[in-house]
Amino acid sequence: MVENRVKVKIRCNVCGEKFVLRGKRDHGKVDTGFKMCLCNNVNDFEIEELPM
Ligand SMILES: [Zn+2]
Repeated sequence: MVENRVKVKIRCNVCGEKFVLRGKRDHGKVDTGFKMCLCNNVNDFEIEELPM
């Protein structure tokens, strides 16, 4: 199986903190291992995929 590596930009909609993480695409879903923002927000994010 080919591993699809992607870079993902995550912006917290609560505090505005930005994270750039590397993840991999698996069955159409991107897994970055990102769990929560520093402000404890867990589900209000703007997520953008970037080309590697
Ligand atoms: Zn936050």
